[in-house]
Amino acid sequence: MAENSLNVVDPEIAELIRAEERRQTDTVKLIASENYVSRAVLEATGTVLTNKYSEGYPGKRYYEGQQVIDKIETIAVERARSVFGVRHANVQPYSGSPANLAIYLAFLKPGDTVLGMGLPFGGHLTHGWSVSATGKWFNPVRYGVRRDTGRVDMDEVRALALEHRPKLIFCGGTAIPRTIDFPAFAEIAREVGAVLAADIAHIAGLVAGGAHPSPAGHADVISTTTHKTLRGPRGAMLMADSDEHATALNKAVFPGLQGGPHNHTTAAIAVALHEAAQPEFKAYAAQIVKNAKALADELLARGFDLVSGGTDNHLILMDLTPKGIGGKPAAQALDRAGLETNYNAVPFDPRKPFDPSGIRIGTPSVTSRGMGEAEMRQIGTWIDEVVTAVAKGEAEAEDVITRVRREVTELTAQFPAPGLS
Ligand SMILES: *Cc1c(COP(=O)(O)O)cnc(C)c1O
Repeated sequence: MAENSLNVVDPEIAELIRAEERRQTDTVKLIASENYVSRAVLEATGTVLTNKYSEGYPGKRYYEGQQVIDKIETIAVERARSVFGVRHANVQPYSGSPANLAIYLAFLKPGDTVLGMGLPFGGHLTHGWSVSATGKWFNPVRYGVRRDTGRVDMDEVRALALEHRPKLIFCGGTAIPRTIDFPAFAEIAREVGAVLAADIAHIAGLVAGGAHPSPAGHADVISTTTHKTLRGPRGAMLMADSDEHATALNKAVFPGLQGGPHNHTTAAIAVALHEAAQPEFKAYAAQIVKNAKALADELLARGFDLVSGGTDNHLILMDLTPKGIGGKPAAQALDRAGLETNYNAVPFDPRKPFDPSGIRIGTPSVTSRGMGEAEMRQIGTWIDEVVTAVAKGEAEAEDVITRVRREVTELTAQFPAPGLS
């Protein structure tokens, strides 16, 4: 007896999935933390591996029947070690936030001090921001960027580290358009005896592809999501060189924080790492950066105020104040025009987090579709046309949005996204 498909069992959800697929097909996705995974990664994600419980690690499980899962997880771990040049990897964290919490559990006691980048400057919630468990249960100290350069001031980081003596220092973040100086952070961490965690969630694909310096050999712990520039499934990894750090991290992930690993995700991470090890991925990572620079140049030429004056990586953060519009109404108008972005606080933002001054854009997804610098200049033009029209509040803003929406659909039709039919 044939089993019924999703279409038959639950047509409502099946249709919504198709609607999301259409939406992802005909919009220009500029959200810096997103990507399109390959058909191979999607396939691995939707498999019977989701049926299996595997608490523990390969060779040391609490359930029988691990003949296949042990092989899959071992391959994923070996590929992570090879791609990132580290001695140990844990591929079980459910996502980036739980991975970071595992770092705290591994190395800190409640109330201990953590030094991380403040959220409004580009840090992540889990680097000790007040609303996060990491900011409530630990003692957070925050560094930011310089007002004049928009870049991290390593002298400030060092002064804060010497004053507060943190046990853990985080570098990396979610809205940093510039290269992270891992050796400089490592030197400060050594000076104060802190564990240095490099959170490369955003830039892991650039690191894997050689388009951003690697934290390997500098940071004690490397944390990353697998679903951003790395172009894998939603998941995360923790990596380390020393046996002592790796043992502490493994214990923190399981049994410290989690139960059974998501084996279908583990398999998809292995596939993504295989893809990241291919020569084409180097070219992909380099093109992400070239595209971001081309888009930044177009926006600068059109009078946009980019935080730090440009970008070294996949991401652009811009302050829309000179354009006379807030980030939220701009992002909403751009979304109606088929240009998907997110509103974002900018450093020293006088506005509230839910209605900030900026938007954040990134090039991983459009690069996965095969777009290049010419398309980036076109996208920069559209962003300017929509933002300028909406800021002026002109009646013809609607006409501009309608026209751009049509042109976006025409462009996306020429660049099929990986994984979508
Ligand atoms: C995205 C991100 C995370 C969190 O990942 P989730 O999977 O959303 O929990 C952590 N750190 C940084 C720097 C990130 O960009």
